[in-house]
Amino acid sequence: MSGPVFDAVERAFAPDSIGRPVQLRGWVLRSRSSGGILFLLLRDRTGTVQVTGKRDVLGTDAFDAAEHVQVEGAVAVEGTVAADPRSPGGREVRASRITVIDAGAPFPIFADQTEEFRLDKRHLAIRSQEHVATFRVKAEMLRAFREFFDRESVLEVTPPVLSGNAAEGGAEAFRFDYFGRPAYLSQTAQLYLEALLFPNERVYALTPSFRAEKSRTSRHLTEYLHLEAELAWTDLEGLLDFIERMVVHVAHALAERRPTELAALGRPPEELRALAAPFPRLRYAEAIDTLSRKGLPVQWGADLGTAEERALTLEAQTPIFVTHFPRELKAFYMLPTSDDRRTVEAADLLAPEGYGEIVGASCRDTDVDRLTARLRETGADPREYDWYLDLRRHGSVPHAGFGLGVERVLRWILRREHIRDTTPFPRTPSRHTP
Ligand code: ATP
Ligand code: MG
Repeated sequence: MSGPVFDAVERAFAPDSIGRPVQLRGWVLRSRSSGGILFLLLRDRTGTVQVTGKRDVLGTDAFDAAEHVQVEGAVAVEGTVAADPRSPGGREVRASRITVIDAGAPFPIFADQTEEFRLDKRHLAIRSQEHVATFRVKAEMLRAFREFFDRESVLEVTPPVLSGNAAEGGAEAFRFDYFGRPAYLSQTAQLYLEALLFPNERVYALTPSFRAEKSRTSRHLTEYLHLEAELAWTDLEGLLDFIERMVVHVAHALAERRPTELAALGRPPEELRALAAPFPRLRYAEAIDTLSRKGLPVQWGADLGTAEERALTLEAQTPIFVTHFPRELKAFYMLPTSDDRRTVEAADLLAPEGYGEIVGASCRDTDVDRLTARLRETGADPREYDWYLDLRRHGSVPHAGFGLGVERVLRWILRREHIRDTTPFPRTPSRHTP
């Protein structure tokens, strides 16, 4: 669009702006008028500023039109920046002209409505300051992850999201018709990342994963953003060192670059700045001992659920690795521990303060016969995995990898009660619209 060059709202707060003309455009956050003066709180991507307009300056018609702009209506403003201690941020823009772009219908969202209603109106609810702060932290988090992988020479690759294989077994996979044949939405990109590892040695991907999770919990979505990596020539120790460095890098980057948003959402940035490696590493066997002492007995071989993870991490200030899980609890591709065949070289990273699992990691088995046997044991048909087993037939090397739930990490970092608050359009068993 040609025409006047617009300023960003933040321009009004620059040190040299007082007395200067500005041209702004954006959305009305609030408005009121009294005694022939209109007060608009105007929002754009860079912030909010108060705009005042006088009837005798704007003219009666323009003033009336501006007065009828609804919350979330759109306007363009020409005016002059003035210092005003009564205004938010100590500045205001005194308008010489207000052009209504879209006066808008009455905005349906306001205080004290139910969560269900807000979810029905999610496409509008995401304009709130809280959502905007969340979007910014999430974007910065993704940037920080990519920056870290780049620094560690891990190549970003693009695995498919639909496939004829259900990577981790059928129960939690979304199945659909693919030109008359069954297909599945990806639960993990791992098998493809393992294939991509051989030409690239170190790879990662950021793709949506889909889980037909029956359980409705505050940490499960049916679609989430999955950050997965595969690293050649790595054992469990090396893998956990890598994950630790990554989490610390991301926490520090967020504290550095998004302190205002973090604080507004309830996470003091200092707490992230204080995060340091190493994170405690606890074997599954030790974890269940700890749990018994806390009055939550777990039989050897049983999985750690939300309650157990919460009990392990409630008092913790840093994330905790739980390692060496019983083999039956974990996927077919995990490497058995060399001195204890009942366990696998796997680890979950649990976020502190009770938030629980944020990363699942393991060394991958390289033995074709054992992998085939494990597939059979888990009820899968090894023929369907023949392409995957091929990877063990041509230059197989020790390697390991992990999957991290982006929204899980964000839920911990932003201290959100429910994971849906970390994604604009949450997908849960009861909702896939808007
Ligand atoms: P959980 O036991 O919590 O269901 P999982 O063991 O099924 O997790 P993995 O299969 O190891 O999880 O997936 C890797 C990572 O993906 C998890 O550590 C978690 O961060 C994230 N994740 C898994 N399922 C979901 C989900 N339904 N919604 C959001 N994130 C998820
Ligand atoms: Mg799960």
